[in-house]
Amino acid sequence: MKHASTVAVCLLRPQCEGQNTFQESDMPARSRLYSLAPYKIETVWRESLTGYINRLGWTHHISPRAFVAEMILPPLTKDLGLRLPAAAAFGADGAMSFNGTGDLASAGGALLNHLTMRTDLHLLTLPWWVGDLPRRGQLRATPAWCPLCLAEWRDQGQPLYQPLLWMFHIVTLCPRHRSPLMDQCLYCQKRQMILATNNTQPGECTSCGTFLGEDPKSFAGGPEHEQQMAWQEWVISVLEELLTISQADGQLQWEPFFSHLATYLKEHRAYSKLARVTGSTRQALHHWVKSDDPYAPTFQTLLQFCYACNVTPLQVMRNQLDHLQQVDERETRRASSLPQRPARRVVDRERCQALFQAVLDGKEEPLGTSQVAQRLEYDEHSLMQHFPVECAEITRRAKAYRKRRKEQRFALMSEQVRQAILTLCASGVYPSQDAVQSLLPSGTMRMQEARVVWRTTLQELGFER
Ligand SMILES: [Zn+2]
Ligand SMILES: [Zn+2]
Repeated sequence: MKHASTVAVCLLRPQCEGQNTFQESDMPARSRLYSLAPYKIETVWRESLTGYINRLGWTHHISPRAFVAEMILPPLTKDLGLRLPAAAAFGADGAMSFNGTGDLASAGGALLNHLTMRTDLHLLTLPWWVGDLPRRGQLRATPAWCPLCLAEWRDQGQPLYQPLLWMFHIVTLCPRHRSPLMDQCLYCQKRQMILATNNTQPGECTSCGTFLGEDPKSFAGGPEHEQQMAWQEWVISVLEELLTISQADGQLQWEPFFSHLATYLKEHRAYSKLARVTGSTRQALHHWVKSDDPYAPTFQTLLQFCYACNVTPLQVMRNQLDHLQQVDERETRRASSLPQRPARRVVDRERCQALFQAVLDGKEEPLGTSQVAQRLEYDEHSLMQHFPVECAEITRRAKAYRKRRKEQRFALMSEQVRQAILTLCASGVYPSQDAVQSLLPSGTMRMQEARVVWRTTLQELGFER
């Protein structure tokens, strides 16, 4: 690492220059962007590349999406000839590929290493964790998160960031809290954009700004949850194992996995048995291990296969397959048959009506449909099928309530900015954005609205034309 953020020069905000206390002669080569260290890089909680990009944007006081449009996309499209969609669509979901296995991830990681003078940012992508598997189905389309982790980090004053673990399609439960990851905001029910826009801060919904660390308190335990937890704990242990090997030996190669499996299946005539055990087919297994034209299964399929066979991918790669012979077809565990969400149950109409009525009468806070479903522990779609009118009405009211809250927050923020400016003027201090920020809750002046209020107030006071 090259002298971290103290020697970085922010090219996006020329006014940042001159703030460094070092003399030019003291400085080794400067990085163009702040050389932020990625979070938890040694563990399965390592930061994702898109999380890092968001953080770089916020640190440079620019919206992460604008930051990518200005600093990342032009060199990637011009110099490397990558074809990318328009910036807006790209930021909403296309940017997830930064975390993946394709050209965007490798070129993006290399470019960011260059711009920050770091050497480890490529490690925030999948190939440096799970190796050279094809990209299909490895990443979620949009980010997921554990609300309990976010709430805990905030309460403990720790940074709120986006681990790569949460981007894996195969990871559905938080290993720390044994509760489901979420992928839709509880308030506006929107999925999250990969690259944040102007107004959003870490841990906030990219659509409505609500803190995403609210606990839905909706997940019922039970045998299904325990089975799923067992599967997820196994997945995490495999991810830990793969990460350890990648850290020690570099990018993981899966070829030995398929060649050893091929030898085993052939020598033990085990195609039919392992197909039955794993819920696969003989043909599929033949395709996997065909050396002339192999069909690589997805990461999820591979792990489900290994789970059912009670081996880890690393054991297969190292040809430690002895206990495959002891796999008992009657006691097999099938992750592929586990539901991804809590099962639907028969809807208790009376109980639902009571909650709808309480919300409509104002005896409950203005919950949206998703929140009511979470509270009742029902699937949202079945609730909408049974109570279309009530759902439409509470959704309308919840939207109006959010709009009012947003307006109130805006009015409060505007007043705070104005007051801060007047206080500074009264003390004879120029009300620069930094000076105003020093009197306000953290992150206020990163909001575009706050900067507009700041500029307008300064104009009113005659500071700027
Ligand atoms: Zn958690
Ligand atoms: Zn939201």
